[in-house]
Amino acid sequence: MKAQVIIVGGGVIGVACAYFLSRRGVQVLILERHHLGAGASGASATMMNISGTSGVPEPLRPFAFESHHLILELEQDFEQPLEVIRGGSLIVAMNEQEAQILKAIFKENQQMGIDCSMLNGLESCRLEPLLSPQVMAAVYSPLNYHINPFRLCEGYLSGALRRGAKIAYGINVLDVQVKNDRISRVVTKQGDYYADWVIVAGGAYTPQILPSIDIQVPVVPGRGQAIITEACPPLTTHALEFLSHVYTRQVANGNFYLGSHTEFVGFDNRITLEKISAYTRALARGVPIIARLRALRFFVGFRPMSPDNLPIIGSIPTCTRLILATGHGRTGMRHSASTGKAVSELIIDGETRLPIADFAVDRFAQKSGH
Ligand SMILES: Cc1cc2nc3c(=O)[nH]c(=O)nc-3n(C[C@H](O)[C@H](O)[C@H](O)COP(=O)(O)OP(=O)(O)OC[C@H]3O[C@@H](n4cnc5c(N)ncnc54)[C@H](O)[C@@H]3O)c2cc1C
Repeated sequence: MKAQVIIVGGGVIGVACAYFLSRRGVQVLILERHHLGAGASGASATMMNISGTSGVPEPLRPFAFESHHLILELEQDFEQPLEVIRGGSLIVAMNEQEAQILKAIFKENQQMGIDCSMLNGLESCRLEPLLSPQVMAAVYSPLNYHINPFRLCEGYLSGALRRGAKIAYGINVLDVQVKNDRISRVVTKQGDYYADWVIVAGGAYTPQILPSIDIQVPVVPGRGQAIITEACPPLTTHALEFLSHVYTRQVANGNFYLGSHTEFVGFDNRITLEKISAYTRALARGVPIIARLRALRFFVGFRPMSPDNLPIIGSIPTCTRLILATGHGRTGMRHSASTGKAVSELIIDGETRLPIADFAVDRFAQKSGH
């Protein structure tokens, strides 16, 4: 089977690329081995904060700003609403040491021109009554929002399908073979596919999809364990992030999503009581009601982590027509629109409006001197 562009991976990055290419008339085929959002995308908290607890690395800032408003605009073109909750976000400090870190985050946000304010404990609790009186300080960013991850993936996909894109499920890609700057074939368990261009957006699995290319793609899985609680009446619209790297948000139908930091344990998909209990305790210290909620569902997702926390976007050095779009780590939902747009520009215009040189895969080879 032949397509102009084959995209490997039906996660948020793959479908965002499909969406922007289809909008400009390119014929796209997505190959996905499971189902839409089967990887990290379906497990995501989908907090669309321009800046979070770890800030935004400089080269990613134009992407962060563009995606932040673009995703809201795209909602008009999607078949279903994204369940946008526009309450803003609070990054919360529970002790003096964390309050110092928060000051640095506040300063960085101000330098980036992000609308935000620094609140003391009392002001934080006034703004968000679910917070414990133990809270020391918070950075409030009113323009941040959070959305439903499945709706975002479905939105991109339905927009692409409507414009002629195709998706094939149950296709396990084993290799992408290239010769003389051309794609020779996409090898799958279910037979070979052919395309002028291939975009590999396999999330944490990307290195496994490319056994025969001669460059290392240093993306590793970063496990995130998450919990969905019972649904409650509307209690808050804020996304609440703590400097201990735990966070929560109440989703549109009332459940709380509880999430935690990144663990480097390979593709071990076990839910561990040690982590779950540690992070629910940490969350309950800041948001006491959490301790009284019933947990309905536990799951894990593997964030595609790169060594420098920047994504990998662009062609591989030996083949212009094989493009990588991966390594988005903790912020792939946030940066999906600008990534999809940039990849579509790279293929159609041969250049991107926002600079992507810092995201080239050969930056790692250069650093290690290979
Ligand atoms: C718990 C958790 C919370 C998160 N919270 C946020 C957040 O609040 N905000 C934010 O912006 N980001 C968040 N993220 C990060 C975000 O989810 C990821 O960065 C993003 O989903 C990465 O998308 P992707 O398309 O690159 O990868 P994935 O979603 O993993 O998609 C890759 C796809 O490729 C498919 N695939 C893999 N191998 C093959 C193969 N051989 N053949 C065919 N198909 C294949 C997989 O089945 C999968 O569907 C969170 C992640 C986790 C785990």
